[in-house]
Amino acid sequence: MQKSFIPVNRILLGPGPSNVNPKVLEALSRATLGHLDPQFIELMDEIKSSLKYTFKTENDATFVLSGPGSLGMEACLVNMIEPGNKVVVCTGGYFANRMIQIVEKIGGNPVPVKETWGRAIDPQKLEDSLKTNRDAKIVAFVHAETSTGALSNIKELSEIAHRHNCLVVADVVTSLGATDVMVDEWNLDAVYSCSQKGLACVAGMSPVTFSEKAVHHIKNRKIPVQSWFNDLNLLLSYWGGQKRMYHHTAPSNQYYGLHEALFILKEEGIENAWRRHKENSAKLISKLKDELDLEPIVPNGERIPHLQAIKVPDGVDEAKIRIELLKQHNLEIGAGLGELAGKIWRIGLMGYNSNDKIIDYLIGSLKKVFSEK
Ligand SMILES: *Cc1c(COP(=O)(O)O)cnc(C)c1O
Repeated sequence: MQKSFIPVNRILLGPGPSNVNPKVLEALSRATLGHLDPQFIELMDEIKSSLKYTFKTENDATFVLSGPGSLGMEACLVNMIEPGNKVVVCTGGYFANRMIQIVEKIGGNPVPVKETWGRAIDPQKLEDSLKTNRDAKIVAFVHAETSTGALSNIKELSEIAHRHNCLVVADVVTSLGATDVMVDEWNLDAVYSCSQKGLACVAGMSPVTFSEKAVHHIKNRKIPVQSWFNDLNLLLSYWGGQKRMYHHTAPSNQYYGLHEALFILKEEGIENAWRRHKENSAKLISKLKDELDLEPIVPNGERIPHLQAIKVPDGVDEAKIRIELLKQHNLEIGAGLGELAGKIWRIGLMGYNSNDKIIDYLIGSLKKVFSEK
């Protein structure tokens, strides 16, 4: 006989998903509404307004895509780039490399600005690249490079890009909700995030926002957007205007979850949430150092507050530690990706999980597992 699926209640301290507030889980299970129900349209409008608060923007083109962060990445790039366009992509990790792959797939001409993995992008390198690539129209970069733990100064990168008459595509997938993101102040044009990292909701939704300049750029393309699902012109007819048009069947229950997660964030106050993540990260880093002699690979000042890339000590089997944490302590942390596979652990303290109790449980569990190896 087949039974209902009942998952284990893990403590998720990897790069996302993280544990979801029980209030969000409860919201997900409420009665389903149709995707054009007047009450659902009200919910969409509230999500839009909460997202403007979260992104710190007045952009009218602020909404959610029904898919993970990668969908937002593809949507921003496919709308902003026409085949043949030169695109400068700042890359110091796995996710920026994914941007390059997408630019190639949609017929753009990516020019990488390469940074060492584990470091913030050096703004001078972008400046130099734009001086030699004067025909570039778009600059793309990642704020919090989840694969390495490095946080770049995208305010500065954006300033440089605009000085060279480029529009910018910014990945705030991991940063949004947990560390400072200011779309309008930083002049970001096409911006995407996800639901399961800094926003600490379940996966599968991608908040996006487009500046007026970006919308104008998209509406004046010579070649139509090479995607049906991600065409901003079609998406806006579902998310805006007087009469809402069917675009796709939005997963209404998931949207209830996002609405609740954004509500919780607003209740705390976004600046307070940023501060909480910074303070808890500082505590985590000092305890890892003092009690386990473990250290981040990213220099101080360039670290993502809520996601630490921790160096695996010489001679330690990193996978074994992760497996024992899961088996004995019900606790998940992340492995390294790409160039950093086998060399780091990635420890996230996001949203609901960014608190003292979780830090103490993690440190205690790590001590036990280390003492047994
Ligand atoms: C996780 C992540 C993505 C991809 O998001 P998914 O929800 O896994 O599709 C993109 N960019 C960054 C920086 C990420 O951390």
